[in-house]
Amino acid sequence: MNAVVMGPPGAGKGTQVKMLADGYGFLHLSPGALLRQAVKEGSDLGAQAKAYMEDGQLVPDALVIELLRSRLAETEGSRGVVLDGFPRTLGQAEALGEMLAQRRQNLDIVINMELPEAEAVRRLTGRRVCRQCGTNYHLVSKPPASEGRCDSCGGPLYQRSDDSEETARARLAVYRRETEPLVEFYASRGVLRSISGQGGVADVRARLERALGLGR
Ligand code: AMP
Repeated sequence: MNAVVMGPPGAGKGTQVKMLADGYGFLHLSPGALLRQAVKEGSDLGAQAKAYMEDGQLVPDALVIELLRSRLAETEGSRGVVLDGFPRTLGQAEALGEMLAQRRQNLDIVINMELPEAEAVRRLTGRRVCRQCGTNYHLVSKPPASEGRCDSCGGPLYQRSDDSEETARARLAVYRRETEPLVEFYASRGVLRSISGQGGVADVRARLERALGLGR
């Protein structure tokens, strides 16, 4: 199964897709995580992407599409791919269709996680991330057992620079302008399923698994 999970920043895509990948053996592809890694390593790609990411803007299609193309090539033999944060533009959606067609594969389902803007801002500004393993926490709704430390691996938690309120709002505006049109794009192709991203992690997980037809 090849799936896309879309939704505004803060909808919980990363948290949910990581659980799906761990639980069912899907490959989790997140350009945001790959780009943050590239920035950390100081690679060419990281240097080109850094300023866009800090401003909450999209990295140009050409860069992100090439990044995805090289990663998809490594997916041979997995149970399928779940994309988190790609595509974010119509150009990326078309490129994804072509990449899958070249591999004689389809995009089976697109999950649209819906979340009101005020809740997205609350989640983004309270988010903390493990620098070592990438697990997400929230200061209020999912605090770590020991302050500033990851429950899973003990790594240090940090706040993403693009999770400040100003940048969070900029990212939400970009989402509405560039990414929301994909809802219509995929609905017209008959692959879209919308679910609510409200509530706790377990509630959303149950909705997501139901939408994907995965039993527990
Ligand atoms: P995310 O972790 O998905 O919130 O992504 C963090 C940042 O990485 C975004 O604000 C963009 O600057 C960049 N980014 C991630 N995915 C994409 C994409 N599909 N297209 C362009 N830029 C992206």
